[in-house]
Amino acid sequence: MFGMNYDLNETSIRIYNSYSKSVELFEPSESEMVKTYVCGPTVYDYTHAGHGRTYVVFDALRRYFNLRGYNVYFIVNITDIDDKIINRANSEGRDWTSVVDEFTRDYMDVISKLNIKVDLHPRVSSHINEIIEFISVLIERDYAYVTKSGNVYFNVDKYPDYGSLSGKRDKVLWSQEEEFLSEKRNPYDFALWKAAKPGEPWWPSPWGRGRPGWHIECSVMSSKYLGSTIDIHGGGSDLLFPHHENERAQSESFFGKRPWVKYWVHIGLLTIRGDKMSKSLGNIVALRESFKKWKPEVHRVFYLSLHYRKPQDYSDEALEQANAFYERLVGTVNILKKLSKEAVEQHYMNDNDLRTLREVMDTRRKFHEALSNDFNTAKALSAVHELTAIVYRELQYNPKYTLVWKAYQLLKEYNVVLGVLDKYFEEVPEEMKNVIDDLLKVIVDVRKELRQRKLYDLADSIRSELEKRGVRLMDKGLETTWIIER
Ligand SMILES: [Zn+2]
Repeated sequence: MFGMNYDLNETSIRIYNSYSKSVELFEPSESEMVKTYVCGPTVYDYTHAGHGRTYVVFDALRRYFNLRGYNVYFIVNITDIDDKIINRANSEGRDWTSVVDEFTRDYMDVISKLNIKVDLHPRVSSHINEIIEFISVLIERDYAYVTKSGNVYFNVDKYPDYGSLSGKRDKVLWSQEEEFLSEKRNPYDFALWKAAKPGEPWWPSPWGRGRPGWHIECSVMSSKYLGSTIDIHGGGSDLLFPHHENERAQSESFFGKRPWVKYWVHIGLLTIRGDKMSKSLGNIVALRESFKKWKPEVHRVFYLSLHYRKPQDYSDEALEQANAFYERLVGTVNILKKLSKEAVEQHYMNDNDLRTLREVMDTRRKFHEALSNDFNTAKALSAVHELTAIVYRELQYNPKYTLVWKAYQLLKEYNVVLGVLDKYFEEVPEEMKNVIDDLLKVIVDVRKELRQRKLYDLADSIRSELEKRGVRLMDKGLETTWIIER
């Protein structure tokens, strides 16, 4: 039995690659650096629950790599030039930049509330020159062609491996950007550069005024910041085709080598109460709305409660369950904090203590085995649940210092990936603790004075305001003590 001697270094990380359609041993191209690029939002509407799942999973994956000793360079692009943005601006009689500003702000706000840490958010509109250079090289090498109207297309026939990522090898069966069929060499060619129509934003280029197509931006920005090989490239599974297939054709043609991406990682779709999320059904869940009912931390727990490749259903019951789990985590950390002050150091461990210690330690093996095997956060959460059960069932009634300390350390380690208990583990510097104590003493004295003058309403409102901030007052006669619960 692994038991207490579980060695993390013996557990190698494996992850499913959508290209090979199998779980592979994870080895980054540079030994200690994981270069990750995730396709980000097109900022024409509010960030929704489906986006939330994708970004939370990749953030948790980044945190897991960090925990395992890797540095991660994590890039999420922002698509701030696109047909959808232009259409929304036109239909609302606004400037396209005001649409971009509004929804970029919303996205940034959501990301920060969900405790997602991204190293860089490159925007298309700041990379037009690089995009033009990249397209010029593709034209020069005959992978792309210019039409009379000033559009530039990628010639899919020049890239024989096309379709092997998404499995759509039989390209005669489909076409893209159908409004331009008459000027394309093949119906399946796709645009790299789009000539400007009247009223659209444009930039000057060797092919006339226009703007980049959607796919080219990711090839260009990823290579600008991560070089010619990316370790992990991903997004929602709806991006497999045509977006990722097209990115791959562009980049591998440009660099003349393969593979451009070592591991393609795709997150399953999110349905809403059993239905596909769509504008026509009117069931799109904007996270800014959903946050009013469920904390961002609860959303994180919800997203991580299922394996990332499975389709997930958003419903009140599912969020309710995630909420219960989150409350349990908060309860556990509070119990452990309280116990760590009370628990006495013991000089020996009896058989029962040893068995409990083994159970506590075994949750760590389960946690890491689950995550290292295709990032199974669902299984990892059940290991975390086991730890909370031990705390509620045993430690609470038998607070041995070694056990309490170990359980606390493990919960802190698990939270590196979960990212929902950060504030409970933040260490407050000693001098700040003194300042906080002094301030509370001042407040309690003022409140005592109010009570002596029978101004009970004011005294009560002080109590409830402090309670909201995690400080519980306990009155005994006119004297008051407090506990900081947070
Ligand atoms: Zn992309």
